[in-house]
Formats: sequence, structure tokens, C-alpha cells
Amino acid sequence: MSEKYIYDISEGDASMKAILGGKGAGVAEMMRLGVPVPDGFTVTTAACVETMNNDGQWPADLKSQIADGLKRFEKRTGRVLGGKDKPLLVSVRSGAVVSMPGMMDTILNLGISDDTVDAIAAEAGNERFAWDCYRRFIQMYGEVVEGVSSHLYEDALTAMKAAKGVEQDTDLSAEDLRQLVAEFKKISDEALGGSWTTDPVEQLNRAVDAVFRSWGNPRAEVYRKANNISRDLGTAVNVMQMVFGNRGETSATGVCFTRNPSTGDKGLYGEFLVNAQGEDVVAGIRTPRHLSEMEQVLPEAYHELLATMKRLEDHYKDMQDLEFTIENGKLYMLQTRNGKRTAAAALKIASDLVDEGVIDKTEALRRIEPSQLDQLLHPAIDPNHSASPVVKGLPASPGAAVGSIVFDADTAASLGERGEAVVLVRYETTPDDIHGVLQAQGILTAHGGMTSHAAVVARGFGKPCVAGATTIKIDPVAKNLVIGDRTYTEGEVITLNGSTGEVFGEALELIPPRINEDFQRVVTWADEVRTMGVRANADNFDDASKARELGAEGIGLCRTEHMFMAADRLPAVREMILAETPEQRAAALEKILPMQQNDFEGIFTAMKGLPVTVRLLDPPLHEFLPNQLDQALKVQQMELTGADPQSLAAERQTLAQVKKLHELNPMLGTRGCRLAMLYPEIPDMQARAIIRAALAVLEREGETVGVEIMIPLVGLETEITTQRGIVERAVEDELAKAGKHLDYTVGTMIELPRAALVANEIAKHADFFSFGTNDLTQTTLGISRDDAENGFLSHYVMDGVMERNPFESIDIDGVGQVVRIGVEKGRSTNEALKCGVCGEHGGDPDSIEFFQAVGLNYVSCSPFRVPIARFAAAKAAMGE
Ligand code: PEP
Ligand code: MG
Repeated sequence: MSEKYIYDISEGDASMKAILGGKGAGVAEMMRLGVPVPDGFTVTTAACVETMNNDGQWPADLKSQIADGLKRFEKRTGRVLGGKDKPLLVSVRSGAVVSMPGMMDTILNLGISDDTVDAIAAEAGNERFAWDCYRRFIQMYGEVVEGVSSHLYEDALTAMKAAKGVEQDTDLSAEDLRQLVAEFKKISDEALGGSWTTDPVEQLNRAVDAVFRSWGNPRAEVYRKANNISRDLGTAVNVMQMVFGNRGETSATGVCFTRNPSTGDKGLYGEFLVNAQGEDVVAGIRTPRHLSEMEQVLPEAYHELLATMKRLEDHYKDMQDLEFTIENGKLYMLQTRNGKRTAAAALKIASDLVDEGVIDKTEALRRIEPSQLDQLLHPAIDPNHSASPVVKGLPASPGAAVGSIVFDADTAASLGERGEAVVLVRYETTPDDIHGVLQAQGILTAHGGMTSHAAVVARGFGKPCVAGATTIKIDPVAKNLVIGDRTYTEGEVITLNGSTGEVFGEALELIPPRINEDFQRVVTWADEVRTMGVRANADNFDDASKARELGAEGIGLCRTEHMFMAADRLPAVREMILAETPEQRAAALEKILPMQQNDFEGIFTAMKGLPVTVRLLDPPLHEFLPNQLDQALKVQQMELTGADPQSLAAERQTLAQVKKLHELNPMLGTRGCRLAMLYPEIPDMQARAIIRAALAVLEREGETVGVEIMIPLVGLETEITTQRGIVERAVEDELAKAGKHLDYTVGTMIELPRAALVANEIAKHADFFSFGTNDLTQTTLGISRDDAENGFLSHYVMDGVMERNPFESIDIDGVGQVVRIGVEKGRSTNEALKCGVCGEHGGDPDSIEFFQAVGLNYVSCSPFRVPIARFAAAKAAMGE
């Protein structure tokens, strides 16, 4: 038997969403419950998918199944499509499995024709109504199904209004509209070279096909990409009897939610319009009225609607988003679905439903979308705006920023200090810009990826950042910024959305972050369920405090190199890196030790009682060095202007050093423990600073942190044995000198495939592994992130060569496999080995699910993602 492509509405139910789509399944379920819905049938998503996979050819018997479905439909309603007597009018609407509002096409009033229009007029007792429906149908069908250009119809309508001397469509009489229909038919037939059909059955088939095609239209493609919806799902098509909200003063149409989708509050939330069709509500020509006013106008239907709302919410045990139409006082429900909601509303509704005894805590957690919680943790753009972005870059650091454009860090810093809101716009940022970054509301760069300096620093400070907006042109000298064909000068205000990468050429309203009681309450339920720990990546007091406030159970990665990016420290760090003799290096390290200790004391004070993993220096060296070209130019300039010989000599020496240390691939160069292997004084100094800080905090606060010292970028067993030796000797020496005892552990980052492959050897010398999945992704895939995100990677994702950006969500098959090998091999020789992750994937819900599956003990992510990780870890534990 061939596949069943057509389901009468009475044959479906809520569980059949995958084949009937959300709308089809919702209407079927309502019919099953006895809620009034229009009759009809649904063409399955499978029919769409097969058509799509077969170059637009329908499955062999789809047409005959539609014909049979239509016959049954006609029998039930006692009406006939195209029938002269009691004509059937239908709507044809798309209905995907996951709702994609407004992305696909709808055709209303199908079945109206020269043969049926009089019967429709007679039945409605309103000739004008019938001719109005007819002209609307021709236009909608012509545009959506046959691709006739809309302006042809619009022009004819305008000409008609001018000829009759009226302004509004509603001022045209039945006779005017009859003439307009004749005109529209002529236009359509001419546009199609004579192939315009007036047969309603043929029109129905073509309309179904048009809905299939609309699944592939560009805006639907974009929406799916943005929401990770698979193209393979296809859309269903719902063919339903028309009900008219525009039959006069006892008819209406509207939309409502069973709870407020912005706040989650209980109460009436919805809008309606008397004597209108659904499109009138959406089109915004007439202002809809608040639902509560419907009690006055249509009291019976109003009370029935309220009862239906309650009934549907009780049934689905969740907030519903409903569409309804009232035809001559009779209520019909056209759609019910779980309503989209803000993060704040999601938490409130989940929490309230638990109180109301409708769902349990586990179900409440299932309802929370962890990645959506981001909204709560940063100021966000008020969603009630109608602005379009002028450009889109990478969503490098979430949150929203409004401020006037500045092109250099000094101006940003000085204006920012004065309390002015500025957005720092740079080609890319360097450590020298940090003061400007700190004082800016947000950062926009033309270059650099998600781990670019600007991005990392911005995330660290919770500053919104849009990076790598490659199409913008910045002229820092002329102080202007060109986006598209508009030029912005310094001082003009723009808005950044670091959560989406969007940039707006104007000031938009922001709404403050909201961590409220509902959040606190629901997140503790997540903590009860999850089995993985959640830590934060933080390298200063403020971040550590924030992380703790947001529920971090420790620090999983304290990057020590970041401590040196501040302008006042960079000279000492450069001195250390550029040192030519052990003596010079020792002198520079002497200067650095107290700064380092001071930073650690801040962090340890914030985190006392909890574990802190401090990673020893992992510098891509170039991040600390002057740019070679800049330095060469500086020297040249000094030579030309005859600068004093001593300064010139110093700058020349720096240039020579920069040249000497220049690396072609710094990401694969003297990074991680490699520098420490060359200069053991560095890890020695760092270990001492850590221990001194831990002891100082113990002394002062009566409590300190669990000290965990981490060696970066290890690939060889000898590297870990050597480094562990250096660290242990320094720590023991410090403790002996202080006459104190302190428990501490030493572990390593796993950031290279080799480290995972020989993890059984490395684990013999490590108390813990922390998977650095940022580097592990680069080294496993052989992709330099910054180069890739500015280049081919976005094309790969756009073209579907790669489903997701592997730096955002872990590549489970490749990098994930390496992590799994690392964990298994590591634990094969060291049963007690604690394993965590501190790459950015530690804050990504999908990756967290995977980390749960491979048995990691904890995830560590940026402070602002900690709440997301707590929820995601709970969901991962529940899924197991
Ligand atoms: C990593 O590589 O995943 C990591 C955490 O280290 P960094 O991002 O500092 O290179
Ligand atoms: Mg790394």
C-alpha cells in the first residue's frame, strides 16, 4: 500500500507533530478535545520532503489522495469546492514541525470564482463582502502561487480608487469591486501568458505545491539556519474550511496567550479586531483592541474563549499561543501551540506551574532553554523595536551596548571615565587598547574572530562585542566608519547586539539584566539534579566575585597571561619576554611576582573555600609584543627626526628582539609550557606567587582556596614531569620558608591530540586534566580559528559543509572523540583523575550534554554563562 499523505483533521492528534506539523497536530488535538475548530485535512510533511527530494515532482498518488481527502471533506461539510450551490471555501496554510512564524505562505478564500461568488454573496447576505473576498483571493493566489508581481494588482487598485474618487479600500462599492475582479483576472491572465486557471480544484493543487516550495524560500532558509532547524523536516499543508471574522459586527478575529509571554504573569493577554480577517491584525492598519474589551462586544464568545484558553492550557500543561476567529458570534479556534516566551517568562511560568501542581520540577527544568537565559544576564535590546541592523558580525560577547562611536582607546578611556557612553570601533584591538575597552560600553571590530583579543577581553569583562564585521570600513585618522553606503563620524550613536552580532545605526532602548526570584528558585532545582560541577573561567577579583554570585563552584581556568595585558604591566612582561640573559629575565620576573601575587590574592579572596585552577603562563608571544611593522616604523621615524641616540638604541634593540622572536605560526609556536621549558624561572616565579597569595589569604581570611596548578599545552610526558618538578620544588620551598602546610594539586591542560593519545602516560604525573577545547579544536581540525572565522569557516557553515561552527559547539565526531580517548586513557592509569573542560564549549548546552556523556567531572565557562551551564548540566544529567 502506498504511503498515506492526507489526514482528515479528525484522524490526527498532538503526538503526530512530525508528520502533521505543529499547526495540523494542534488543530487535530483541539478537535479531539471537542474544542470548535474548522474542518479540513492536512497534507503531511513527508509529501513535502518527497517532493523536495524529487526535483519538485509530487509522489505518484498525492494528487489522487488530495482528491479523495477533498471528497470526504465536502461530504462532511455538505459543501463542494467550486460548487454553484453551497460552495466550500478553504484556507491553505503551511505548518512546520517547529513553528516558523511568517516564514511561509498562506492562501485564503480559495474556492471563490465566477461560479461561486453569487452563492457566497447570497449566503452572507452581503454582496460587497463576496466581491471583496474574491479580489483579495485573486491577488493572494496570483502573487503567492503564480508569482504575479504584486504591484500590478496594487496599481490597478490605486487606479480604481482614483477613478472613484475614494481614499480607502473600504469605500469601494460592490460594483467597484466586481470591476476590480474583472481587471485582476485580466492582469493575471496576461502576466501568465494565458495560463491562469479558474478551476478551484486545480488552484488547490497548485496552492499546496506553492506551500511546499515556500519551505525553500530564502527567508525560511535564513530562519532555519538561525534556529538550527533541519531542512529535512519539510512543512505540512493545512487545508481548512474558511471561517470569516469579517462578516460584520458579530464577527471578529484575534490572537491570545494564556499567560503573558514577556513576563510570564497570569492574566488576559491578547488582541482582537471586530469585523476583520487575521491578516488585518497582522498588517497593523487598524489598531487591535485589548482582549478584555471583547467582553462588552461579544460576551458569549468571550466567555467561551476564556474557558477554551483554560482548557487548552490545562491540557497541554503549558502556556498556549492561540489564534481564533468569531463568525457571526460563533467561536472557532484556528491554532494552539506552546507560546514562545522570553527567558524571564519561561522561568516564571515554569515556577508557577510547579506551584499550581501542574508539572513537577523535572518537567519544569525540561521546559527551560539554557541558551535563552543569556537574555537575563546582560542588558538586552528591548525587543519592541522595529530597527533593522546595518551590518552583522560575529556575536563575540553577549549583551547590548549603546554609545557614540570612538576610534581610539585613549578617547574611549577619557570619555568613558567622564561617564559618557561610547562604543570603541577598531580594526582589531591589541593589549594596548585595554583601557579603552574597559571604559567602553561595547566593542566593534572589523577583524578578528571569537577568540580575538577584543572578543576574549570583552567576554572577560562582560562587555558586549561584535567582532569580525568584515564589511565595515574604518578610517581612524579621518575618524569615520563606513557601513554600506552610509558614513558615520565620531560621536554618532550606534547600538551593538553582542548576542547576535547585529549592529544598528541608531540608539535603541535597552532593558536591564534581570536575575530574579524565579531564576534563583528554578536554578536550585537544576543544582539538585546535575552531577557535573560548574566552574568559571576568571582571572580577576571582579570576575571571580561575579562567577561566585552566579553560582560557580570554583574557578576552572585562571589565565595568568591575561593579568599582564593591562597597560601598566605590559612593560614588565615585555621585558621578561625580550630578556636576553637569565639575569635580565630574573630582574623582570622580580617586578612581576608581586603584581601576580596581588592578583591571586584578589581572586583567592573572592573564591575562598572553593577550588581555583591557576594555569601557568600560556602566551602566544606576539600578544605581548609590539607589532614588528609598527616598531620598524617607529625606529625609522626616530632616525629621520634625529631622536636622542640612547632612546634610538633601545628601540632598535627592541626591534631586533621582536624580529628574533617573530613566529610565522605563533599559535603553534612557543606557547604553553614550551616557554617554561626554555625558561624554568617563569613557572618557578608563578608557583611562588600562587603559594604566597594562598598563604596570605589564609592568614587574613582564616580560609583559602583549593590550590590547583595547571601546566598548559602539554604534549609530551617529559614536559609534564619537568614542569611538575619545577612547580613542586618551588611550592615546597615556599611552604618550608613560611613554615606552613597547604594541600595543592598539579594537573595539565589537554589541548593537543598527542596529549590525548598518550594520556595514559601523562596521567601518571597529573592529578587532573582540563580539556582546552579551544586549542584542541584548532589542533584536531588543523584550523586557525581567527583566520578561519574571518574566512572560509563562515562559508562552510553557510553552505552546510559543516553544520555548526566547531568553536561554538564541539565537533563531537572529531574533537569529541579525542576528548573521549583522553578521558579513558587518562583514567586507565590514574583512576582518581579528575577531568574537566575549560574551553568555551564548557558554556555551550549541546557540548555540555556531550561532556556529561564522556564522564567529565566539571565544566568551566565564562562567569556570565555559569547559570546557563547549571541548567544545561541538569538537562544533560536528566537525559542520561
Ligand atoms: C583552550 O584552548 O581551550 C583554553 C581554554 O585555552 P586558551 O583559550 O587560553 O588557549
Ligand atoms: Mg588553549
